[in-house]
Amino acid sequence: MDNFSLTYPFDDLPPSGTARDVAPGIKWLQMPLPFALDHINLYLIEDGDGWVIVDTGIRGDKTQNFWREIFANALDGKPVTRVIVTHMHPDHLGQAGWLCRHWNAPLLMSRTEYFYARTFSNENVRELPPEAILFYQRGGIPENILSEIASRGWGGFSSNVEPMPVGYHRLIDGQVLTIGGREWRVVTGSGHSPEHVCLYCEEIDVLISGDQVLPRITSNVSVNANEPEEDPLSYWLDSHRKFLSLPDTALVLPSHNRPFYGLHTRLRYLLEHHEDRMLACEEKCVTPQTAHDLLPVMFSRPLDSFQIMLALGECIAHLHCLMGRGRLERTLDQDGRYRYRSIDPTLSKRAHPDTHESPDPAPLMV
Ligand SMILES: [Zn+2]
Repeated sequence: MDNFSLTYPFDDLPPSGTARDVAPGIKWLQMPLPFALDHINLYLIEDGDGWVIVDTGIRGDKTQNFWREIFANALDGKPVTRVIVTHMHPDHLGQAGWLCRHWNAPLLMSRTEYFYARTFSNENVRELPPEAILFYQRGGIPENILSEIASRGWGGFSSNVEPMPVGYHRLIDGQVLTIGGREWRVVTGSGHSPEHVCLYCEEIDVLISGDQVLPRITSNVSVNANEPEEDPLSYWLDSHRKFLSLPDTALVLPSHNRPFYGLHTRLRYLLEHHEDRMLACEEKCVTPQTAHDLLPVMFSRPLDSFQIMLALGECIAHLHCLMGRGRLERTLDQDGRYRYRSIDPTLSKRAHPDTHESPDPAPLMV
């Protein structure tokens, strides 16, 4: 299975502050991000005498100034009627509160995403809490790396997200929204975030996919200290199977990279990608390993402490999925680290590491 049969109808991103027509009644814009991944795509859907915004950009004057350019140049003098946010991550949610207040427009989100975000927005813990320290220790993170992680502190969500509206309109899987006379169906996925909203319009065969389906980068699917026993990768794989029920012909409008065709190819590639990474971990665990020991199996580049933090969560997601399938067992060693051991006694004999896809270079926060 390769990833090369995706096609991209646009060669480049629209410059920040401008909007480009990508489908009937839909405009594409992008905003800069201060991360390794340098932009997020946002969309405008024409809504009769106004516009619906889908995703909003990260908090900060820079994004707001680009939004003001959009207001002046891309809305044909019409107001914003609704603000839809696909999921709670700050690059998507960051400006929602400001936009809702500016336009006196309601915020539409799934319930889980909205209340997670409200919780994180109100968190005032600044030091790494004991739950997080325990999580990293059990993951096998060495003390010196843990000190670096601790020195960066905890939280910080609210510094990247404008104060949120205290009320919202709930989006539910299967719900149909009428926007500009067209029907858009809410399709939710889970794994990257708990109740991620995508929007599909059958009439024009367009899927606004958020971070649920990206064409070139793999979305971060991580276990973290808030829910250390979760199995998000199983939800992620289930979601990919669910999204295969959408038409392969759809134009996919993702939150990063460029719009593309080839939905099923991409979903099948990602399903295989994660299976492959799990097999590589399982084979390595013929001898018991900590999650930290397994990072080179999943990532090819040397990682700094911030990347190790992201990578560990991704690695544990793969290990938990394997545990859920009865392929790995986990024990706590005398140093307080979890060690994972593969259960299948034939694994070491049938290991063919050359067949594995190469590891990702480094984890991304997306
Ligand atoms: Zn995200």
